[in-house]
Amino acid sequence: MRFALTALLCKALSIAGKLLGGGTDLPGKIALKMYPRVMKKLKFDGKVLAITGSNGKTTTANIVAHVLRENGYSVVNNELGSNMTSGIASTLLCACTLGGRIKADYVVLEVDECYSRFIFKDLRIDYYLILNLLRDQVVRNGHPDLVSTKIVEAIAAQPEMTLILNAQEPISQNLAGDNYAVYFAMDRTERSTDNCVSGTHDAKICPRCFHEMKYEFFHYNHLGNFACTHCDYQSFHPDFLATDVDFENRTITINGEQISVTYNTTFNMFNTVAAAALALTAGVSMEEFKKGVATFGGAKGRLDTFDFEGRKVTLMMTKQNAASLDQSISFVLEQAGDKSVVLFINNVLYLDYKDISWLYDVAFERLHGKVKNILCTGNRALDAAVCIKACDFDSRTLHYENDLSKIKEAFRNTEGDIYILAASAFGHEGKIIEELKK
Ligand SMILES: [Zn+2]
Repeated sequence: MRFALTALLCKALSIAGKLLGGGTDLPGKIALKMYPRVMKKLKFDGKVLAITGSNGKTTTANIVAHVLRENGYSVVNNELGSNMTSGIASTLLCACTLGGRIKADYVVLEVDECYSRFIFKDLRIDYYLILNLLRDQVVRNGHPDLVSTKIVEAIAAQPEMTLILNAQEPISQNLAGDNYAVYFAMDRTERSTDNCVSGTHDAKICPRCFHEMKYEFFHYNHLGNFACTHCDYQSFHPDFLATDVDFENRTITINGEQISVTYNTTFNMFNTVAAAALALTAGVSMEEFKKGVATFGGAKGRLDTFDFEGRKVTLMMTKQNAASLDQSISFVLEQAGDKSVVLFINNVLYLDYKDISWLYDVAFERLHGKVKNILCTGNRALDAAVCIKACDFDSRTLHYENDLSKIKEAFRNTEGDIYILAASAFGHEGKIIEELKK
Protein backbone atom coordinates (compact mmCIF):
# COMPACT_ATOMS: atom_id res chain seq x y z
CA MET A 1 0.00 0.00 0.00
CA ARG A 2 2.80 2.38 0.94
CA PHE A 3 4.56 1.57 -2.34
CA ALA A 4 1.40 2.04 -4.43
CA LEU A 5 0.71 5.42 -2.85
CA THR A 6 4.29 6.57 -3.37
CA ALA A 7 4.31 5.45 -7.02
CA LEU A 8 0.93 7.06 -7.64
CA LEU A 9 2.05 10.37 -6.17
CA CYS A 10 5.27 10.25 -8.19
CA LYS A 11 3.31 9.67 -11.42
CA ALA A 12 0.86 12.48 -10.60
CA LEU A 13 3.66 14.93 -9.74
CA SER A 14 5.49 13.98 -12.90
CA ILE A 15 2.44 14.69 -15.08
CA ALA A 16 1.90 17.99 -13.25
CA GLY A 17 5.61 18.80 -13.65
CA LYS A 18 5.42 18.21 -17.40
CA LEU A 19 2.38 20.49 -17.69
CA LEU A 20 4.06 23.20 -15.62
CA GLY A 21 7.47 22.76 -17.21
CA GLY A 22 9.16 21.69 -13.98
CA GLY A 23 12.23 19.49 -13.54
CA THR A 24 12.21 15.70 -13.62
CA ASP A 25 13.93 15.30 -10.23
CA LEU A 26 11.26 16.66 -7.91
CA PRO A 27 8.70 13.79 -8.07
CA GLY A 28 11.47 11.32 -7.22
CA LYS A 29 12.76 13.51 -4.43
CA ILE A 30 9.33 13.59 -2.79
CA ALA A 31 8.83 9.85 -3.36
CA LEU A 32 12.15 9.11 -1.63
CA LYS A 33 11.13 11.30 1.30
CA MET A 34 7.90 9.29 1.64
CA TYR A 35 9.57 5.92 1.18
CA PRO A 36 13.40 6.08 1.25
CA ARG A 37 14.01 2.49 0.08
CA VAL A 38 11.22 2.52 -2.49
CA MET A 39 13.46 1.29 -5.33
CA LYS A 40 14.05 -1.95 -3.45
CA LYS A 41 10.41 -2.86 -4.08
CA LEU A 42 10.63 -2.71 -7.89
CA LYS A 43 10.17 -5.96 -9.80
CA PHE A 44 11.83 -6.35 -13.17
CA ASP A 45 12.64 -9.44 -15.22
CA GLY A 46 14.69 -7.72 -17.93
CA LYS A 47 18.26 -6.46 -17.89
CA VAL A 48 19.37 -3.29 -16.12
CA LEU A 49 22.16 -1.34 -17.80
CA ALA A 50 23.85 1.56 -16.01
CA ILE A 51 26.24 4.04 -17.58
CA THR A 52 28.50 6.47 -15.78
CA GLY A 53 31.67 8.49 -16.36
CA SER A 54 32.74 12.11 -16.32
CA ASN A 55 31.98 12.76 -19.98
CA GLY A 56 29.75 11.10 -22.57
CA LYS A 57 27.21 9.29 -20.40
CA THR A 58 24.07 11.00 -21.76
CA THR A 59 25.08 10.37 -25.37
CA THR A 60 26.19 6.79 -24.74
CA ALA A 61 23.05 5.92 -22.78
CA ASN A 62 20.93 7.42 -25.54
CA ILE A 63 22.82 5.47 -28.23
CA VAL A 64 22.20 2.21 -26.36
CA ALA A 65 18.52 2.98 -25.72
CA HIS A 66 18.05 3.98 -29.38
CA VAL A 67 19.72 0.80 -30.65
CA LEU A 68 17.45 -1.31 -28.44
CA ARG A 69 14.27 0.50 -29.51
CA GLU A 70 15.19 0.35 -33.19
CA ASN A 71 15.34 -3.41 -32.82
CA GLY A 72 11.93 -3.70 -31.25
CA TYR A 73 12.92 -3.98 -27.60
CA SER A 74 10.96 -2.00 -25.03
CA VAL A 75 13.17 0.32 -22.96
CA VAL A 76 12.78 2.46 -19.86
CA ASN A 77 15.46 5.15 -19.61
CA ASN A 78 16.21 8.58 -18.17
CA GLU A 79 16.97 10.08 -21.56
CA LEU A 80 17.15 13.70 -20.43
CA GLY A 81 19.91 12.96 -17.98
CA SER A 82 18.27 13.19 -14.54
CA ASN A 83 20.97 10.92 -13.20
CA MET A 84 21.03 11.32 -9.43
CA THR A 85 19.02 9.16 -7.01
CA SER A 86 15.86 11.27 -7.28
CA GLY A 87 15.97 11.36 -11.10
CA ILE A 88 16.38 7.58 -11.29
CA ALA A 89 13.53 7.10 -8.78
CA SER A 90 11.30 9.41 -10.88
CA THR A 91 12.08 7.49 -14.07
CA LEU A 92 11.43 4.06 -12.57
CA LEU A 93 8.37 4.93 -10.48
CA CYS A 94 6.73 6.59 -13.47
CA ALA A 95 7.39 3.45 -15.55
CA CYS A 96 6.18 0.78 -13.11
CA THR A 97 2.72 -0.51 -12.22
CA LEU A 98 1.24 0.29 -8.81
CA GLY A 99 2.42 -3.19 -7.82
CA GLY A 100 6.00 -2.17 -8.65
CA ARG A 101 6.44 -4.18 -11.85
CA ILE A 102 8.40 -2.63 -14.70
CA LYS A 103 7.18 -4.06 -17.98
CA ALA A 104 10.06 -3.62 -20.41
CA ASP A 105 12.91 -5.64 -21.92
CA TYR A 106 15.63 -3.28 -20.74
CA VAL A 107 16.19 -0.49 -18.24
CA VAL A 108 18.97 1.84 -19.43
CA LEU A 109 20.13 4.36 -16.85
CA GLU A 110 22.62 7.16 -17.02
CA VAL A 111 23.88 7.46 -13.42
CA ASP A 112 25.94 10.15 -11.75
CA GLU A 113 29.36 8.79 -10.83
CA CYS A 114 29.11 9.97 -7.20
CA TYR A 115 25.51 8.78 -6.72
CA SER A 116 25.87 5.23 -8.13
CA ARG A 117 26.74 3.96 -4.64
CA PHE A 118 23.39 5.13 -3.26
CA ILE A 119 21.33 3.87 -6.21
CA PHE A 120 23.07 0.48 -6.36
CA LYS A 121 22.19 -0.28 -2.72
CA ASP A 122 18.53 -0.72 -3.68
CA LEU A 123 18.44 -1.45 -7.39
CA ARG A 124 19.82 -4.57 -9.08
CA ILE A 125 22.24 -3.63 -11.85
CA ASP A 126 23.33 -6.26 -14.39
CA TYR A 127 25.82 -4.27 -16.47
CA TYR A 128 27.76 -1.17 -15.47
CA LEU A 129 29.66 0.82 -18.09
CA ILE A 130 32.25 3.28 -16.77
CA LEU A 131 33.30 5.51 -19.66
CA ASN A 132 36.10 7.56 -18.12
CA LEU A 133 37.08 9.56 -15.07
CA LEU A 134 38.29 13.07 -15.75
CA ARG A 135 38.49 16.25 -13.72
CA ASP A 136 34.88 17.45 -13.57
CA GLN A 137 33.17 20.00 -11.31
CA VAL A 138 35.98 19.66 -8.81
CA VAL A 139 34.20 21.72 -6.16
CA ARG A 140 31.33 19.21 -6.14
CA ASN A 141 33.10 15.97 -7.01
CA GLY A 142 36.71 16.34 -5.98
CA HIS A 143 39.59 14.81 -7.91
CA PRO A 144 38.92 11.78 -10.21
CA ASP A 145 40.76 9.55 -7.71
CA LEU A 146 38.22 10.52 -5.07
CA VAL A 147 35.35 9.82 -7.48
CA SER A 148 36.87 6.40 -8.19
CA THR A 149 36.66 5.49 -4.47
CA LYS A 150 32.92 6.24 -4.58
CA ILE A 151 32.52 4.02 -7.65
CA VAL A 152 34.39 1.22 -5.87
CA GLU A 153 31.69 1.45 -3.17
CA ALA A 154 28.97 1.17 -5.83
CA ILE A 155 30.63 -1.89 -7.39
CA ALA A 156 30.97 -3.55 -3.98
CA ALA A 157 27.17 -3.41 -3.61
CA GLN A 158 26.71 -5.51 -6.79
CA PRO A 159 29.09 -8.50 -6.83
CA GLU A 160 27.15 -10.20 -9.68
CA MET A 161 27.29 -7.16 -11.96
CA THR A 162 29.38 -7.25 -15.17
CA LEU A 163 31.61 -4.23 -15.69
CA ILE A 164 32.41 -2.65 -19.04
CA LEU A 165 35.64 -0.67 -18.67
CA ASN A 166 37.81 1.61 -20.76
CA ALA A 167 41.21 0.05 -21.54
CA GLN A 168 42.56 3.50 -22.44
CA GLU A 169 41.76 5.28 -19.20
CA PRO A 170 44.08 4.26 -16.34
CA ILE A 171 41.89 5.34 -13.41
CA SER A 172 38.64 3.55 -14.31
CA GLN A 173 40.31 0.55 -15.99
CA ASN A 174 41.64 -0.27 -12.52
CA LEU A 175 38.20 -0.65 -10.89
CA ALA A 176 37.11 -4.23 -11.67
CA GLY A 177 38.11 -5.81 -8.35
CA ASP A 178 36.41 -9.22 -8.11
CA ASN A 179 33.63 -8.41 -10.60
CA TYR A 180 33.71 -9.86 -14.09
CA ALA A 181 34.81 -7.19 -16.56
CA VAL A 182 35.16 -6.66 -20.30
CA TYR A 183 37.23 -3.88 -21.86
CA PHE A 184 36.92 -1.55 -24.84
CA ALA A 185 39.44 0.60 -26.71
CA MET A 186 39.91 2.56 -29.93
CA ASP A 187 42.98 2.34 -32.16
CA ARG A 188 45.06 5.38 -32.97
CA THR A 189 43.14 7.67 -35.37
CA GLU A 190 44.29 10.47 -37.69
CA ARG A 191 43.42 12.87 -34.84
CA SER A 192 45.41 11.06 -32.15
CA THR A 193 48.47 12.90 -30.82
CA ASP A 194 51.81 11.77 -29.38
CA ASN A 195 51.55 14.32 -26.58
CA CYS A 196 48.56 15.44 -24.54
CA VAL A 197 47.26 18.65 -26.17
CA SER A 198 44.37 19.17 -23.75
CA GLY A 199 44.51 21.58 -20.84
CA THR A 200 44.27 18.80 -18.26
CA HIS A 201 45.95 15.43 -17.81
CA ASP A 202 44.68 13.62 -14.74
CA ALA A 203 46.69 10.39 -14.96
CA LYS A 204 50.35 11.30 -15.27
CA ILE A 205 51.15 8.76 -12.58
CA CYS A 206 50.15 5.12 -12.22
CA PRO A 207 47.12 4.59 -9.94
CA ARG A 208 48.71 1.38 -8.61
CA CYS A 209 52.33 2.31 -7.80
CA PHE A 210 52.39 6.11 -8.30
CA HIS A 211 55.29 6.05 -10.75
CA GLU A 212 55.29 7.85 -14.08
CA MET A 213 52.80 6.68 -16.71
CA LYS A 214 53.90 6.65 -20.36
CA TYR A 215 51.44 6.97 -23.26
CA GLU A 216 51.84 5.58 -26.76
CA PHE A 217 49.27 8.11 -28.05
CA PHE A 218 46.38 10.23 -26.82
CA HIS A 219 42.79 10.43 -28.13
CA TYR A 220 42.11 13.39 -25.82
CA ASN A 221 43.01 14.38 -22.26
CA HIS A 222 44.56 11.28 -20.65
CA LEU A 223 42.67 8.78 -22.83
CA GLY A 224 45.06 6.66 -24.87
CA ASN A 225 47.25 3.56 -24.77
CA PHE A 226 49.27 3.65 -21.55
CA ALA A 227 51.88 1.65 -19.65
CA CYS A 228 53.45 2.27 -16.26
CA THR A 229 57.23 2.83 -16.23
CA HIS A 230 57.59 0.89 -12.96
CA CYS A 231 54.96 -1.87 -12.47
CA ASP A 232 53.15 -4.02 -15.03
CA TYR A 233 49.96 -1.92 -15.10
CA GLN A 234 49.06 -1.02 -18.68
CA SER A 235 46.18 -0.87 -21.18
CA PHE A 236 44.50 -4.28 -21.03
CA HIS A 237 43.82 -6.30 -24.15
CA PRO A 238 40.39 -5.03 -25.28
CA ASP A 239 37.44 -7.34 -25.88
CA PHE A 240 35.94 -4.64 -28.10
CA LEU A 241 38.39 -2.77 -30.31
CA ALA A 242 37.57 0.01 -32.77
CA THR A 243 39.85 0.24 -35.78
CA ASP A 244 39.81 2.23 -39.04
CA VAL A 245 37.97 5.22 -37.63
CA ASP A 246 36.99 7.19 -40.73
CA PHE A 247 35.80 10.66 -39.69
CA GLU A 248 35.12 11.80 -43.24
CA ASN A 249 32.90 8.89 -44.22
CA ARG A 250 31.54 8.47 -40.69
CA THR A 251 32.38 4.82 -40.30
CA ILE A 252 34.07 2.86 -37.55
CA THR A 253 35.08 -0.79 -37.48
CA ILE A 254 34.43 -2.67 -34.24
CA ASN A 255 35.86 -6.18 -33.89
CA GLY A 256 36.19 -6.35 -37.68
CA GLU A 257 32.62 -5.17 -38.49
CA GLN A 258 32.29 -1.84 -40.28
CA ILE A 259 29.58 0.35 -38.74
CA SER A 260 28.06 3.56 -40.14
CA VAL A 261 27.44 6.36 -37.66
CA THR A 262 25.79 9.77 -37.90
CA TYR A 263 28.56 11.89 -36.30
CA ASN A 264 32.26 12.54 -36.75
CA THR A 265 33.66 13.73 -33.44
CA THR A 266 36.39 11.79 -31.67
CA PHE A 267 34.48 11.54 -28.40
CA ASN A 268 31.33 10.21 -30.07
CA MET A 269 33.36 7.62 -31.98
CA PHE A 270 34.77 6.54 -28.62
CA ASN A 271 31.25 6.58 -27.11
CA THR A 272 30.17 4.25 -29.93
CA VAL A 273 32.78 1.63 -29.02
CA ALA A 274 31.68 1.87 -25.39
CA ALA A 275 28.00 1.58 -26.39
CA ALA A 276 28.80 -1.46 -28.55
CA ALA A 277 30.73 -3.10 -25.72
CA LEU A 278 27.79 -2.60 -23.37
CA ALA A 279 25.03 -3.58 -25.81
CA LEU A 280 26.80 -6.66 -27.17
CA THR A 281 27.76 -7.86 -23.69
CA ALA A 282 24.11 -7.43 -22.65
CA GLY A 283 22.92 -9.69 -25.46
CA VAL A 284 22.38 -7.43 -28.49
CA SER A 285 23.78 -8.85 -31.74
CA MET A 286 26.31 -6.97 -33.88
CA GLU A 287 23.71 -6.81 -36.70
CA GLU A 288 21.19 -5.20 -34.33
CA PHE A 289 23.79 -2.73 -33.09
CA LYS A 290 24.78 -1.75 -36.64
CA LYS A 291 21.16 -1.25 -37.66
CA GLY A 292 20.33 0.87 -34.62
CA VAL A 293 23.36 3.13 -34.44
CA ALA A 294 23.05 4.03 -38.15
CA THR A 295 19.91 6.09 -37.38
CA PHE A 296 20.95 7.64 -34.05
CA GLY A 297 19.98 11.30 -34.13
CA GLY A 298 22.41 12.58 -31.49
CA ALA A 299 21.99 13.25 -27.81
CA LYS A 300 19.06 15.59 -27.32
CA GLY A 301 20.09 19.22 -27.18
CA ARG A 302 23.84 18.69 -27.43
CA LEU A 303 24.45 19.99 -30.96
CA ASP A 304 22.31 22.31 -33.04
CA THR A 305 22.96 24.15 -36.30
CA PHE A 306 21.04 27.17 -37.56
CA ASP A 307 21.36 30.31 -39.68
CA PHE A 308 22.04 33.85 -38.44
CA GLU A 309 21.85 36.55 -41.14
CA GLY A 310 23.26 34.18 -43.75
CA ARG A 311 26.01 32.83 -41.50
CA LYS A 312 26.19 29.29 -40.20
CA VAL A 313 25.89 28.99 -36.43
CA THR A 314 26.67 25.77 -34.56
CA LEU A 315 25.59 25.52 -30.94
CA MET A 316 27.53 22.95 -28.95
CA MET A 317 26.60 22.09 -25.39
CA THR A 318 29.66 21.40 -23.31
CA LYS A 319 29.85 20.16 -19.77
CA GLN A 320 31.30 22.50 -17.20
CA ASN A 321 34.66 20.82 -17.30
CA ALA A 322 37.89 21.39 -19.18
CA ALA A 323 37.87 18.03 -20.98
CA SER A 324 34.49 18.74 -22.56
CA LEU A 325 35.37 22.29 -23.61
CA ASP A 326 38.75 21.09 -24.93
CA GLN A 327 36.86 18.57 -27.08
CA SER A 328 34.57 21.31 -28.39
CA ILE A 329 37.65 23.37 -29.29
CA SER A 330 39.06 20.34 -31.13
CA PHE A 331 35.79 20.11 -33.08
CA VAL A 332 36.00 23.81 -34.01
CA LEU A 333 39.63 23.43 -35.13
CA GLU A 334 38.65 20.52 -37.39
CA GLN A 335 36.13 22.69 -39.32
CA ALA A 336 37.17 24.46 -42.53
CA GLY A 337 36.78 28.17 -43.30
CA ASP A 338 36.90 31.42 -41.33
CA LYS A 339 35.31 31.13 -37.93
CA SER A 340 34.61 32.79 -34.62
CA VAL A 341 33.96 31.23 -31.25
CA VAL A 342 31.27 32.39 -28.83
CA LEU A 343 31.83 31.26 -25.24
CA PHE A 344 28.50 31.18 -23.42
CA ILE A 345 29.41 30.59 -19.78
CA ASN A 346 26.39 30.65 -17.58
CA ASN A 347 26.90 28.61 -14.43
CA VAL A 348 25.51 30.74 -11.67
CA LEU A 349 23.10 28.30 -10.11
CA TYR A 350 23.55 26.87 -6.65
CA LEU A 351 24.03 23.39 -8.04
CA ASP A 352 27.12 24.47 -9.96
CA TYR A 353 28.71 26.07 -6.90
CA LYS A 354 29.31 29.11 -9.11
CA ASP A 355 32.73 27.69 -9.84
CA ILE A 356 34.55 28.87 -12.98
CA SER A 357 38.08 27.80 -11.97
CA TRP A 358 37.84 24.98 -14.52
CA LEU A 359 37.92 27.56 -17.32
CA TYR A 360 41.60 28.09 -16.49
CA ASP A 361 42.23 24.39 -17.19
CA VAL A 362 41.03 24.70 -20.81
CA ALA A 363 43.70 24.91 -23.54
CA PHE A 364 42.25 28.02 -25.20
CA GLU A 365 45.76 28.75 -26.53
CA ARG A 366 45.04 26.27 -29.31
CA LEU A 367 42.72 28.88 -30.87
CA HIS A 368 45.59 31.35 -31.46
CA GLY A 369 45.67 32.27 -35.15
CA LYS A 370 42.85 29.81 -35.91
CA VAL A 371 39.78 31.94 -35.17
CA LYS A 372 38.84 35.50 -36.10
CA ASN A 373 37.14 36.38 -32.82
CA ILE A 374 36.31 34.99 -29.42
CA LEU A 375 33.12 36.54 -28.02
CA CYS A 376 32.45 35.93 -24.32
CA THR A 377 28.84 36.09 -23.23
CA GLY A 378 26.43 34.68 -20.65
CA ASN A 379 26.30 35.65 -16.99
CA ARG A 380 29.98 34.87 -16.58
CA ALA A 381 31.11 36.79 -19.69
CA LEU A 382 33.62 38.90 -17.78
CA ASP A 383 35.10 35.89 -15.97
CA ALA A 384 35.51 34.14 -19.30
CA ALA A 385 37.03 37.27 -20.86
CA VAL A 386 39.65 37.49 -18.08
CA CYS A 387 40.52 33.87 -18.71
CA ILE A 388 40.85 34.42 -22.48
CA LYS A 389 42.89 37.58 -21.88
CA ALA A 390 45.23 35.54 -19.66
CA CYS A 391 45.78 33.27 -22.68
CA ASP A 392 47.24 36.29 -24.53
CA PHE A 393 44.47 37.03 -27.02
CA ASP A 394 44.52 40.69 -28.13
CA SER A 395 41.57 43.07 -28.00
CA ARG A 396 40.85 42.70 -31.74
CA THR A 397 40.18 39.01 -31.18
CA LEU A 398 38.60 39.13 -27.73
CA HIS A 399 35.10 40.63 -27.43
CA TYR A 400 32.58 40.37 -24.63
CA GLU A 401 28.90 41.16 -24.19
CA ASN A 402 27.07 40.22 -21.04
CA ASP A 403 23.81 41.88 -22.03
CA LEU A 404 21.98 39.24 -24.04
CA SER A 405 19.64 41.84 -25.56
CA LYS A 406 22.69 43.19 -27.43
CA ILE A 407 23.94 39.81 -28.56
CA LYS A 408 22.85 40.26 -32.19
CA GLU A 409 25.09 43.31 -32.56
CA ALA A 410 27.94 41.45 -30.87
CA PHE A 411 27.51 38.57 -33.33
CA ARG A 412 27.62 41.02 -36.25
CA ASN A 413 31.03 42.19 -35.03
CA THR A 414 32.48 38.70 -35.45
CA GLU A 415 33.65 37.10 -38.70
CA GLY A 416 33.06 33.73 -40.37
CA ASP A 417 31.04 30.77 -39.21
CA ILE A 418 30.05 30.97 -35.55
CA TYR A 419 30.58 28.20 -33.01
CA ILE A 420 28.78 28.75 -29.73
CA LEU A 421 30.38 26.68 -26.98
CA ALA A 422 27.74 26.71 -24.28
CA ALA A 423 28.64 25.65 -20.75
CA SER A 424 25.24 26.20 -19.30
CA ALA A 425 22.66 24.46 -17.19
CA PHE A 426 18.96 23.62 -17.38
CA GLY A 427 18.41 24.84 -20.91
CA HIS A 428 19.56 28.41 -20.30
CA GLU A 429 21.48 28.27 -23.57
CA GLY A 430 18.06 28.53 -25.25
CA LYS A 431 18.01 32.21 -24.32
CA ILE A 432 20.80 33.07 -26.71
CA ILE A 433 18.93 31.36 -29.55
CA GLU A 434 15.73 33.25 -28.64
CA GLU A 435 17.60 36.56 -28.85
CA LEU A 436 19.20 35.67 -32.19
CA LYS A 437 15.85 34.71 -33.69
CA LYS A 438 14.04 37.89 -32.57
ZN1 LIG B 1 52.63 1.34 -11.81
